[in-house]
Amino acid sequence: MDIIEKIKVQAIKLQKAFNNVRVGIYPSDFGRFNQNMKYYLDSLNITGIYLADATFNSQGYPTFTDMRLFLKNIDVCLIWGRDNLCIDMADYIGRHGNRVELIDLLDRSENFALIHSENEFQIIDYDNLTEKQISIVHDSNIDLICVKKTVDEDLQWETAWRNQIDFIPFDLQLLDNNAAMAYCPECGSVCYTDRSFVVTGNYFGGVVFYLFHCHYDFFVLKKWENLMGIYLPDKEIFIKFRKMRMHFSRPDPDHNYTALIDQFKTYVVYFIEEAIDYLKNDSPKKLQFIVGYQNNLGHHLCNELSAIQRFIDSGDTDIIQSPLLLEHDFYDFKGLFPEILDIDLGRPGADTKRLHTDIFRNSLQQNRLSLFLYTFGQLSNTLAEKLISRSKQKYERKIQQLERFLNAKDSWPILWITIRAGRRRKWINQKEALSYVLNQLYVNYPHIAAVFDGIATAEEYYQQIKLLLNKKIKTYNALHLSLEDTIWWVTSADAFISPIGTGNAFIFLANIPGVFHTNSKFLKEHKFSERNINYYFAPRENWKPCVILPAENEDLSEPDPRLRNYEIDRDALYEMVRKVLGYIERTKTDTEIGHERFENYSA
Ligand SMILES: [Zn+2]
Ligand SMILES: [Zn+2]
Repeated sequence: MDIIEKIKVQAIKLQKAFNNVRVGIYPSDFGRFNQNMKYYLDSLNITGIYLADATFNSQGYPTFTDMRLFLKNIDVCLIWGRDNLCIDMADYIGRHGNRVELIDLLDRSENFALIHSENEFQIIDYDNLTEKQISIVHDSNIDLICVKKTVDEDLQWETAWRNQIDFIPFDLQLLDNNAAMAYCPECGSVCYTDRSFVVTGNYFGGVVFYLFHCHYDFFVLKKWENLMGIYLPDKEIFIKFRKMRMHFSRPDPDHNYTALIDQFKTYVVYFIEEAIDYLKNDSPKKLQFIVGYQNNLGHHLCNELSAIQRFIDSGDTDIIQSPLLLEHDFYDFKGLFPEILDIDLGRPGADTKRLHTDIFRNSLQQNRLSLFLYTFGQLSNTLAEKLISRSKQKYERKIQQLERFLNAKDSWPILWITIRAGRRRKWINQKEALSYVLNQLYVNYPHIAAVFDGIATAEEYYQQIKLLLNKKIKTYNALHLSLEDTIWWVTSADAFISPIGTGNAFIFLANIPGVFHTNSKFLKEHKFSERNINYYFAPRENWKPCVILPAENEDLSEPDPRLRNYEIDRDALYEMVRKVLGYIERTKTDTEIGHERFENYSA
């Protein structure tokens, strides 16, 4: 791998340059976990290692815990990344006229750094080429027609979602052949690889680097749901595929890509021997799924766990064994999938830096080909039913509580109402409109009840809405429930009123009909329309009608249209809820209604 060769060349340059001086080392960043430092420092005269914490690994070098003493005894200090103590060190050197030279081995602009590159890092924005980028492409023998072939293996997430496809072509191909496939950016040849590097804990959350080789080494980078681009280490060029990330309209700043590439190289520096062994090892690489990437309980459920369930449903349980579980585990992964054995959870108690370096190293040591698991398909019935029945078993003792609420089951309808308390994409008139709609409904539905869901900070809204409500309307405060309890309560509801957002996962689990609302930008991304009614696009298998009510007014002072706060016409909302309730009354005994539209029933 070219990157490894370059690191070795830099190490030789470093050793030659500082051959005759007293060298100190400070493993500032996560170097303290690492055994490979000696690999680069072979012929140097190492006076000592500075350890802020004496329990860190000294790797056999004389240890200094006193910074002054350390700096007094050396001419050059090789630091491995920068932290606060490096600032103190530089300060001390400046103030005391000390002539110690600080050299950051992990700073690409530093001439002696192990990850130094003569070439400046350049980003080519495939979707939006500038004049300058076109000339870079031309000078670098990159053929954009060949790049396009790899781009076509990817899909815009929205297209994929709307087509209800399980996996993007890149992933499907990888699953079929136990190798990733891409096209050489220079000649367009088909290239395969089973070599991958897992780089987690960065701005993008986690990225897998797939190493290909044709005219030169090139990497295809994939994060959770789509391909990010092609990185050419020899030319230090990154061809970025996408202007926009899911749910974010602002483009990712360039420096985040530089940081990602530097992080990858840094991990290679730290685990160079493991990387060399991994690349040399010709025995078949074992597939490793990575789950627990998403810090969002809705996406984690609908895209990550649903993907796992799809394999189980199709009897393909071999392929999902020994997954790597990252830090986000909302639904007790182990309990949910007893079929899956040998789950890698990382070392208990490891801090996040150690966790991420462990992930990188372990996937090399275990000879893995890694893949972030992501499906664009719907939340599967089997998974939803599994979660609901688990929640019910666990909460049997609470049934009395629910029965009291239902008042011997004569409450009807029970509305699930989501309050949105955040600053962004907020329903501005929610207190007034919700109380109005419920009070109006009470006239025709004297046994109406409402369960309020949302994050804990929505409490204030709940209290204010309650004050405005007819006292005879039963309410239940579900704002502070655990996830399991929330699943349990939502299944008792008949219909919902909710903004589009993370908490919708509960509604999809219970599969109840209802009314969503959101701003115009978000509406456009989530809807399909039929006979002038907007529906939420297929949230799960056999879904019940979920209507989306467009906003009436939007706060245009927010520049990002996805984040704009909005108002809803309360009478329009009332009418929609009436229609939904009418639909339920007509289909109450029919469990096989599938995804028929409710207006068929409301004529
Ligand atoms: Zn080629
Ligand atoms: Zn989302």
